[in-house]
Amino acid sequence: MKQFSQLKDLVAKVMYLAKTPWLLKKIYPQLTWDIKPAGRCIYLTFDDGPIPIVTPFVLNILKQYNAKATFFCIGDNIRKHPDVFEQVKADGHAVGNHTYNHLKGWVTDDKTYLDNFLLADELIGGNLFRPPYGRVRRSQTKLLKQAKPDLKLIMWNVLSGDFDTNLSPEKCLANAIDNTTSGDIVLFHDSLKAFDRLEYALPRAMEYWAGQGYIFNSLAL
Ligand SMILES: [Zn+2]
Repeated sequence: MKQFSQLKDLVAKVMYLAKTPWLLKKIYPQLTWDIKPAGRCIYLTFDDGPIPIVTPFVLNILKQYNAKATFFCIGDNIRKHPDVFEQVKADGHAVGNHTYNHLKGWVTDDKTYLDNFLLADELIGGNLFRPPYGRVRRSQTKLLKQAKPDLKLIMWNVLSGDFDTNLSPEKCLANAIDNTTSGDIVLFHDSLKAFDRLEYALPRAMEYWAGQGYIFNSLAL
């Protein structure tokens, strides 16, 4: 058990690196960390919405670049802001499940976790799921896949760090553009907590990537 808790600490630490190390991908091969696209393509993902102001801000920037992205939504936010959720879908983006109450898998019993996923699934549907905090037990992924055999668990391999209130907007931008190459799944948050950094970094990063010839696709593959 001690070893397992040390492994969990290590995982928690490396999850916060801007670029996901190959070792983590080896430890969790059943999760999707990146994609091999045909051309130069970046997969932008936005977690924790939909909410007013921040989500529409993101939608507006995406529109400017004719970009499609993936929004991992919290069920309870959809309940509170159904119109924002409808706008995300109307704009042609993919939506994925991020549980109903943003549960942390490692401290939640399996049944509660599954029920919370299913509650969000009633609103979101589809086959994309991202575990909040990237923390999910194997027993939980097994239950989710039993409930939805075609479910894809989507992680990320570039972390902008926009959720970190100690990080400057400039560093958040640097995290995103210095670490991203074709096929990467980049994680941002359409949350109030992240907005100071997101508002600065997202438009600048997209301008940079578009200038490098990248296109932006959703994970609705
Ligand atoms: Zn989240």
